[in-house]
Amino acid sequence: MNHTDVLVLGSGIAGLSFALKVAQKGPDFNICILTKADKNETNTKYAQGGIAAVMNTLTDTFDAHINDTLESGKGYCDSGVVEMVVNKAPKRLVEMIEWGASFDKKPSGEWDLGLEGGHSQSRILHHKDKTGYEIERALLEKLKSFRNIYFFTHHFAIDLLVKEHTCVGVKYYNKRSRKIENLFAQLTYLATGGSGQIFETTTNPVIATGDGVAMAHRADAAIKDLHFIQFHPTALFLKKENPAFLISEAVRGAGAKLVNKAGERFVFNYHPSGELATRDVVSHAIFSELQKTGEACVYLDCTHLDEKAFTAHFPTITERCRKAGIDVFRDLITVTPAAHYQCGGIAVNKNGRTGLKNLYANGECANTGLHGANRLASNSLLEALVFAHEAATEVIEKKDMGNPNLSLDFPSEAAVIPLTLPQDLAVYKTLREQLQAVMQIYYLGKHSGNPGQNDLKNKVIALAGEIENLFNTSAFHISLCELRNLVDLALLIVNEKKADITLK
Ligand SMILES: Cc1cc2nc3c(=O)[nH]c(=O)nc-3n(C[C@H](O)[C@H](O)[C@H](O)COP(=O)(O)OP(=O)(O)OC[C@H]3O[C@@H](n4cnc5c(N)ncnc54)[C@H](O)[C@@H]3O)c2cc1C
Repeated sequence: MNHTDVLVLGSGIAGLSFALKVAQKGPDFNICILTKADKNETNTKYAQGGIAAVMNTLTDTFDAHINDTLESGKGYCDSGVVEMVVNKAPKRLVEMIEWGASFDKKPSGEWDLGLEGGHSQSRILHHKDKTGYEIERALLEKLKSFRNIYFFTHHFAIDLLVKEHTCVGVKYYNKRSRKIENLFAQLTYLATGGSGQIFETTTNPVIATGDGVAMAHRADAAIKDLHFIQFHPTALFLKKENPAFLISEAVRGAGAKLVNKAGERFVFNYHPSGELATRDVVSHAIFSELQKTGEACVYLDCTHLDEKAFTAHFPTITERCRKAGIDVFRDLITVTPAAHYQCGGIAVNKNGRTGLKNLYANGECANTGLHGANRLASNSLLEALVFAHEAATEVIEKKDMGNPNLSLDFPSEAAVIPLTLPQDLAVYKTLREQLQAVMQIYYLGKHSGNPGQNDLKNKVIALAGEIENLFNTSAFHISLCELRNLVDLALLIVNEKKADITLK
């Protein structure tokens, strides 16, 4: 197939929920979903804590969720978008449940709503500590019932096909045919997720290389606020683990305390909400503590929590710690902050439309204005659901998307390209590791006011030159495309003129 009506890039919550909505309302549309890995290998699958929504109006209010989101975003949120997302959240959640996702309830039958940092109320719907896995499972299952959705896994999107400021599809590498091919579409929807792999320490899986943002940037779509990178305070500290395993914020919501090596609870020295302050604040407190003590990690203390209740809510975390030799009921969990979420991205309007005609974006690759400088916990899955609905509604109402004949100027490439390792594997690996290390130091330096920031910026610029050169002089390889995308985003981050306020 080289033509489709709707082309979705990405099979996380943003891509799948949009495809499902369009397929439901538009049975005549052909919808193709391209993913670069297995169907469910997404950031979505790893989401633990849950999804925020006002589901109990006896204990919670929409205004409270709106205010918490605005406060967390430090003045950089679009308040109209915040109101829209929060007000539409319960409806989208009910739909998700109708599609087959199950969320935990109390024995009384009420929702078992969790508490997380920055939330003034318990409002997190969750499925134990694997909410994302459950959502991904339910969406993939539901999608099977649609005959107008076609899945293409292990298809790596390289660049958008753009003519006259209109997106007409994508150029991609097909790992099965081993060819670079074109897929033309009336409408293209980017749902390619985040870019945590820019940094040395991240909770994001290895697929999170910012491909969609880099493609959109090369195609001249506007990118906004990419320097607002959220570091999650509590990733499990194990040397050289990529990705780092997340210890969900919900664990602190359930009463876990952060302590330093001396066993002192220190976050209250930085903020009156202590461990339940927003992520930027808690990460800042940990970085400062590590600087003071010269230690490599701090500790999460769960030893006082009820063993049975904890194991029931956090089975994955309990088991992962056990595998690392940590008994969460007797030992302290070693934790450190890790790059977690890209708050900025491809600028979109309230319907998810980008500045390029016939190109939409949603999920972690998009910047809707919801998160501002610092995303409120569990608002990301929610954002993807709400914006998928808004975009699908607009697309269906438009009916004729009209990209007549724009495809003709893009010849396909006939050569078969073997799936080997990059020619210069050692050089590739060194450049990738150097980039991740420099970006990690750059980020931490912003936090501590390092006078050498400009040197680090120049180092990123120099690495960008080397990577571009390697890319241009090597045979095609997916890893090189990903590395080029990572460095493109790193450049956008270090060149950002606006002040970074996330860690002040
Ligand atoms: C460990 C962890 C825990 C989290 N916990 C929570 C939580 O509790 N609550 C919450 O709200 N958020 C949480 N988040 C954030 C949230 O999971 C993500 O922001 C969200 O799932 C992103 O969804 P998405 O659909 O935008 O992208 P993803 O789910 O990351 O999907 C990206 C898709 O794009 C595809 N893709 C990427 N590049 C290409 C390419 N070049 N060609 C083809 N396909 C491509 C991938 O194959 C994949 O299918 C967590 C994140 C992590 C990492």
